[in-house]
Amino acid sequence: MSGEVHTACPYCGVGCGVLARLEGGKVHVRGDPEHPSNFGRLCSKGSALGETMALDGRLLFPEIKGQRASWDTALDLVAQRFTQAVRDHGPDSVGFYVSGQLLTEDYYVANKLLKGFIGTANIDTNSRLCMASSVAGHKRAFGEDIVPVSYEDLEQADLVVLVGSNLAWCHPVLHQRLLAAREKRGTKVVVIDPRRSASAEDADLHLAIRPGSDVLLFNGLLAHLAASGVTNPAYIAAHTTGFDAALALAQADAPDRSRVAKGCDVHPADLARFYAWFEQTPRTVTVYSQGVNQSAHGTDKVNAILNCHIVTGRIGREGAGPFSVTGQPNAMGGREVGGLANQLAAHMGFAAPELDRVSRFWNAPNLARTPGLKAVNLFEAARAGRLKALWIMGTNPAVSMPDAGRVREALGRCDFVVVSDVTRTDTTRHADVLLPAAAWGEKDGTVTNSERRISRQRAFVPLPGECRPDWAILSDVARRMGFAAAFPYRSRAEIFREHAALTAFENDGERLLDLGALSDLADADYEAMAPVQWPVRRGAQPGGRLLATRFAHPDGLARLVPVRQEGPARPVDGDYPIALNSGRLRDQWHTMTRTGLVPRLMSHAPEPVLDLARREAQGFGLETGDLVQVESAFGQALARLRVSDAQRPGEAFLPMHWSGLFAARAGAGAVSNPATDALSGQPELKHVPVRITQAPLR
Ligand code: SF4
Repeated sequence: MSGEVHTACPYCGVGCGVLARLEGGKVHVRGDPEHPSNFGRLCSKGSALGETMALDGRLLFPEIKGQRASWDTALDLVAQRFTQAVRDHGPDSVGFYVSGQLLTEDYYVANKLLKGFIGTANIDTNSRLCMASSVAGHKRAFGEDIVPVSYEDLEQADLVVLVGSNLAWCHPVLHQRLLAAREKRGTKVVVIDPRRSASAEDADLHLAIRPGSDVLLFNGLLAHLAASGVTNPAYIAAHTTGFDAALALAQADAPDRSRVAKGCDVHPADLARFYAWFEQTPRTVTVYSQGVNQSAHGTDKVNAILNCHIVTGRIGREGAGPFSVTGQPNAMGGREVGGLANQLAAHMGFAAPELDRVSRFWNAPNLARTPGLKAVNLFEAARAGRLKALWIMGTNPAVSMPDAGRVREALGRCDFVVVSDVTRTDTTRHADVLLPAAAWGEKDGTVTNSERRISRQRAFVPLPGECRPDWAILSDVARRMGFAAAFPYRSRAEIFREHAALTAFENDGERLLDLGALSDLADADYEAMAPVQWPVRRGAQPGGRLLATRFAHPDGLARLVPVRQEGPARPVDGDYPIALNSGRLRDQWHTMTRTGLVPRLMSHAPEPVLDLARREAQGFGLETGDLVQVESAFGQALARLRVSDAQRPGEAFLPMHWSGLFAARAGAGAVSNPATDALSGQPELKHVPVRITQAPLR
C-alpha cells in the first residue's frame, strides 16, 4: 500500500515489523509481511498501535519546576547542575536511569556521555529488571552476552521447553510461530512455571514447580543426562571446561529423581517424562524469561539451563539451543552499546585492555574505570543523598521498581532530577526539569530484538510541539558540558556508524558482536537498511549460528558452571504466608502509559486482579470479587480478588502494570522485594511474601 513506512513495534523483544501510514489524520498499522521476525503477524498490542498516537497527555514543551521553559534554558540548567555536581562531589554523584524503549543511537550517546566523558559508570536501565541475570549467565558460560538461537530454531525444534516464560502473553507473535510449527511437525512443548499460565494451558506437559526450584530441576536433568549417556564427551572435551565440577555439584544437589520431584514439588511421573523427552530429543530449544531472571539466584538458574545444553552439544545448531527472550523492544540494543552499569560498550567489560581500547576509540581520557551502580543501588544512593543529580529517560521507576515507595522517596530526596519522556507519569511528578522526547512514530533509529536482529524504527508522523529525539537532547547537553568535539552528531546515521565501528575496533574476532560491515554505511543505505542479524562482519555473510564450537572466552571454551539450589531471598513466614508472583497481562505494556489509552485493550482486564489459590482464599474467607489489600514488608497494593485454580496452594499472582495514574490501586512494584541477585543485580520480583486481607471499606 502506498505511503506505508517500514518500522518496528515498540512493545516487546520479538521486534515485529510494522507497516504504518498516516491517512485522514489517523495512523493505520499492519504487520510487515516481509519482516523476518513476524512475517505479517501482529498481536493485540501491536495491532492497536495506531490508537495510542493521540497527543492527549503528551509532553510537548520543556518545563522547569512545572513551568514551561525554552529548550535553551532547560538544557543550560541540566548541563550546569550536572557539571556542578561533578565538580563539587565527583563524577559518581551523578547518574542516568534509562530504558529499553530508547533506540540504540540514543543509548549509545547516553552511555558515551556518562561513562566516557562525565567519568562514571552510574548508568543503568530498566532492562536490569528484565534480563540482567541472562546477561550475567551468558558472560559466565560463553564469555560474552550472546544469544545463540534464532526464531527459526523454534520452528525447527522437536521439543521446546518454556521456563518461567508465558510466551503466549508476553511474546505473542513468537508463540504464534511456535504453534504454527507445532501443527506441522508435532513439536512437543513443555512449560515449567509455578502458575498455570496461558502458555501452560496448551502445553504437552506442565511442570508447576515450587517457585525458585529451577536450579534443582536442571541439576537433576544434568545428572540424568550424564547417567543416561547422552552427554557428548567429544564435544565436552574439545569445547568446554568445568564439566566434572558442574556434574559433581549437580549430583550432590540432586542425588536421585525422587528427591528432585519432592524438592520441586512435582509428580515423579511428570518429572520422568520431562527428563526422558529432553534426553531423547537432540533438537531442543529451551526458552527462558523473567520467571528465571527475576530472582535472587537468577544467574545460577540461567547457568543450570545452559549447562544442560552445553553438555549435550545442543547449542549453535539447527533447532537447538538455550534462548533468553527479552522483554523490551531494544533491551538487546542497550546491551550492545553498554547501557548497563557493569558493561562498557560493544560487549566490552572493565578489564584494562578493554578500557584502553574504548578510551582510545572515544578519545576519552576520563573514561569510568570501574562498574557503576545497578538500578536498585542507584536509587538507594539517591535516597541516601550520595547521588546529587539523576536523569531518567523513557521509563517510570516510581511504579516499576521494586519497593517503589522507597524509589519515590529517593526521587524526592535527590537534589536534581531530570526526566525526559513522552507522557506524564508517576515519575515525571518528581522532575525538576521535564524534557519532551520524541515518541514511537516520531523518532528514527535502530533496535535489536531477542534474536540479535537489527531493525529500523522509522518516523512517519511529524514531531509534535517542541519534542526532540533523545540522542539530540543528550548531544546538546554534552556540548554544553564542554564535550563538543566528541558529540558532533547531526544525524542518527552518524551515531550508528560510530557504534558499528566501535564493535569492530581492534576486534580480531574475540568478540562475536561485530557490525564492522555497517560502519561506513552511506546515509541513504542507513535510511534503507533492511532487518539484519548480527554479526555483520566485513567480507562475511551476516548472522549465522553462533557458539557451535567456539566461545568468546580467551581460550575459546565454554564454561560449565557449578550451581547449587538455594532458597528465595525472603521465604514466606507466619506474618507474610503467601508467595506473590507477578508479571504481564496479554494486552498491557509496562505501566500502561500507552496501552492504557486503548479501550479495547483495557477491556481484557479493566482493573488489577489478584489471583489467589483456592485453598488460601477459602481459609481467609475471601471470594471472587472481594476488594483485597496485599501487604508485604515493603508496601501495599489494592486489588480485586479472583479465586484461582491456576495458582499452586500458598501462592498468588498480581499483574505488574497498574499505577496511581490509572486507578487508586497499585501494581506489583508497590509490594516487591528489592533483594537482588549478587551477580546480576536483578531484583527478586517473582517471589514476594505477602499477606492478603479484605480491604477496609473506603
Ligand atoms: Fe509488538 Fe511484541 Fe506483539 Fe510483536 S509480539 S506485535 S513486537 S508486542
